[in-house]
Amino acid sequence: MTDSTSTYDALLAALHSVLGDAGLVLTGEAMSPYCVDWRGEFGAPALAVARPKTVDQVSAVVRVCAERNIAIVPQGGNTSLAGGAVPIAGRAQIVLSLSRMKAIRAIDPVGMTMTAEAGVVLETVQEAAREHELLFPISFAAQGSSQIGGIISTNAGGINVLRYGMTRQRVLGLEAVLADGSIVEGLRHLHKDNAGYDWKQLLIGAEGTLGIVTAASLRLAPRPKHKITAFLAVPDPESALALLRHATAQLGDAIAAFELISPSALALVKQHFGLKPPMEMQSWAVLIEAAASLSGLRDAMEAALTMALEAGDASDGVIAETEAQAAALWALREHVTEAELKSGRSVKHDVSVPINRIPDFIRDATSALHNAFDGLQLVVFGHVGDGNVHFNVLGAAVEAKAAINRVVHDVVAGHQGSISAEHGIGSYRVSELAHYKQPSQLTLMRTLKRALDPSNIFNPGKVLNDGRSFSEK
Ligand SMILES: Cc1cc2nc3c(=O)[nH]c(=O)nc-3n(C[C@H](O)[C@H](O)[C@H](O)COP(=O)(O)OP(=O)(O)OC[C@H]3O[C@@H](n4cnc5c(N)ncnc54)[C@H](O)[C@@H]3O)c2cc1C
Repeated sequence: MTDSTSTYDALLAALHSVLGDAGLVLTGEAMSPYCVDWRGEFGAPALAVARPKTVDQVSAVVRVCAERNIAIVPQGGNTSLAGGAVPIAGRAQIVLSLSRMKAIRAIDPVGMTMTAEAGVVLETVQEAAREHELLFPISFAAQGSSQIGGIISTNAGGINVLRYGMTRQRVLGLEAVLADGSIVEGLRHLHKDNAGYDWKQLLIGAEGTLGIVTAASLRLAPRPKHKITAFLAVPDPESALALLRHATAQLGDAIAAFELISPSALALVKQHFGLKPPMEMQSWAVLIEAAASLSGLRDAMEAALTMALEAGDASDGVIAETEAQAAALWALREHVTEAELKSGRSVKHDVSVPINRIPDFIRDATSALHNAFDGLQLVVFGHVGDGNVHFNVLGAAVEAKAAINRVVHDVVAGHQGSISAEHGIGSYRVSELAHYKQPSQLTLMRTLKRALDPSNIFNPGKVLNDGRSFSEK
């Protein structure tokens, strides 16, 4: 027996004693879905997939791995668009899937909070809130698969950020396991708590590099009784911003979502899913949704549309009359990412710029790319009501991925934007983060990483190139 075989056998025996058969996946075939990302672009083999059911088991698994310097890749629904949730080659590692930790531990309808374990699917949390006439407002196309631990670890955004904020704004407390296996219990339901450092903020958006989230107390919102959804054809992104002003003037903070969709994105959705806008159009589109507990939304939405049409900021528009019509309008937006996947490889950019710079960013990035490359197709869409643009490149030019990233991100930097608005860094954008983040901020991030994970066992090679080689402590 070789040394490496006996080390591997000892690791499996130790994991088995913690997790039993039900909590351990070992065969190559059964492990493969955990080892490749949603886009089929990233991944590497793992030694094992651990599927703990309790926080104590998570803690024990971390101790087993820490003692042997085995890295751990935490995984939720594996819907990351940044290659964050799967192993990358270069270090002995296991995947730690939280999907068996799926209890909703408590709901408080008066305080409007919920305590949910990391593996609860986002849609399940939304449904549980709805049963109490409440709302968990984080929402996006992958909500049927992504999990609470994943959305917290990516600080997910989605369609309602404009009104309700990012996931960070919805987390009141966390339970987590640190790199030495210790459990930090912080499942409070307090809206005000200035007693010392707010450590949970470090784990939110850390993409599994600083600790493992095992449960969270979540802040719910009142469920609006009325909702209205409209779809408009707009001449260009400048007009979309003018429309945002009309909508804000009429609907105020009832606006929950304001999405921009390019003609090429609509064309892809039609090509791959047969979904068409409700009117004949070749132009950009905006999808607006407003929600409130008081009535009057329809009059306000109609007034906003009239203002936009009269000013020439929209050429046509419809207001959904039924929930089914609203769902059909949303389907046009929600199928864009999958339609892109069906079109082949793409170079994805998930950027944010100040809202008033969105048209300039789209124009500048488009011309910079066309000047630099032939044979590319741009698919642009996003949550522009909060400054977030998905600016994706398809076509033959995708082979020049690194160069394309640099061209787009230089334009982002020129507009004082961010190279990741909501999807995170994962393994996809590590070198871009190192290039664009200020050195003083990178130094601070490395200091935090070394303090919380001195042996670099949590998701190594993700987010931060922390100056250590991948296999080093
Ligand atoms: C079709 C589609 C549409 C999408 N739309 C949006 C969108 O609008 N907005 C948006 O923000 N994102 C979007 N995403 C990206 C993705 O769904 C989110 O990032 C989501 O939050 C990831 O959740 P998950 O459970 O799948 O996490 P995973 O993909 O499993 O993991 C994501 C990251 O979190 C870490 N992690 C997971 N669980 C834990 C845990 N318990 N503790 C510590 N670390 C953990 C992983 O290591 C990884 O780094 C979309 C994805 C798809 C496929």
